[in-house]
Amino acid sequence: MTSMNSSARDRTQQQSQIYCYCQLKCVVYTCFRGPNRGRQFYRCIHSRTDDDCNFFKWMDELEEPYHDTHYDLKAADDKILKKLDLVIFQLKVFIALVALDVIVRMYFA
Ligand SMILES: [Zn+2]
Repeated sequence: MTSMNSSARDRTQQQSQIYCYCQLKCVVYTCFRGPNRGRQFYRCIHSRTDDDCNFFKWMDELEEPYHDTHYDLKAADDKILKKLDLVIFQLKVFIALVALDVIVRMYFA
């Protein structure tokens, strides 16, 4: 999911953004019994079938995974930046070598 159009997505597809372990959009259920009555939760679309991946998430507890995802992305960003630094360094070395080669050819060839 890209962050670019997530705000538009949030408004229109708020209930189908969550994916279960099968990477399928979750179905929203409402709890009808017990202390959690009226509470909504996400379940696998194959809920109560043999394909059920047993994914379960309360709708009001969604902040947590989003934070995790955010930190994951941030960590990934840092990783990419470090990698990019290395690539840029290698590129600089390469350019320096090419420049050196050109200079050597110009003056000594
Ligand atoms: Zn599933």
